[in-house]
Amino acid sequence: MLVFKASEKLKMHLNSKAQKIGLVPTMGGLHRGHSTLIKKACCDNDVVVVSIYVNPTQFNDLNDLKKYPFDITSDKSFLSQFSKNVIIYNPGHDEMYPSGIKSKSYDFGSIALHMEGKFRPGHFNGVATVIEKLFKEIRPNNAYFGEKDYQQTQIIKALNRSLNLDVKIISCPTEREDDGLAISTRNKFLNSRQRSAAKKIYYALQELKVKKTKKFDVMKGFFINTVELSEDLKVEYFYIASIDNLIPVEKFHKHKKYRIFIAVLAGNTRLIDNEEIKFN
Ligand code: AMP
Repeated sequence: MLVFKASEKLKMHLNSKAQKIGLVPTMGGLHRGHSTLIKKACCDNDVVVVSIYVNPTQFNDLNDLKKYPFDITSDKSFLSQFSKNVIIYNPGHDEMYPSGIKSKSYDFGSIALHMEGKFRPGHFNGVATVIEKLFKEIRPNNAYFGEKDYQQTQIIKALNRSLNLDVKIISCPTEREDDGLAISTRNKFLNSRQRSAAKKIYYALQELKVKKTKKFDVMKGFFINTVELSEDLKVEYFYIASIDNLIPVEKFHKHKKYRIFIAVLAGNTRLIDNEEIKFN
């Protein structure tokens, strides 16, 4: 499998023939959730670049960054199951941040203000800095992101639009464990009690989708009580936001689209998830 560390060499390789390029940006620690994106990218494109870069500026918590798993050998072997047209771009910090590790500053308006934007200050500036660079260097036709990070995907769409980067952004459904827990690189940090309790997150989200109430406080209370029944879990936030602007609301209209957004702490491990909810 081809692994590029320098963008110039990657560009030379990609430009050597006319082809449709797909990009799957990741931070490594590859798992079945990433596979959904890579498989779709392999179907749609002639060549698929999987970027693996643990971006320091999108970590607002230094301990989270320090313990984030990085194992290029295991990621390479994981990627060998896919088509031969998958290549890895694994740049170092010098390549991504030639003038020092600092993110650019963007104004995404309301979509960046709540949920992850509120609880992880600076996070989306860090994400956007790296994605802007990857899009400009690789010039992919298509780029693939997971619905699990719904707010992030909306940020990327806004970035792409505002800078006219001309990339088609493709959002892929959340891949889950058998009990519904959204697959994440961070799940491996859960101890067995936390892991077992974490299934309540998806269970509570599904119950909310079929509940007949429109009362926000009742829904939030139900989610917190269900999840925090286990003393291993603590709800960091519960919001229902309109998908147009990602502004949390507490009153709902029949014809508008909403999503539930949650973050739950299991010890030091943060789990996020989101689900569409309809109010008829
Ligand atoms: P990460 O390596 O965690 O930065 O994730 C890289 C990409 O994979 C992002 O677009 C994520 O939204 C996506 N992703 C991560 N986990 C999942 C999952 N369980 N299902 C679908 N997409 C995912």
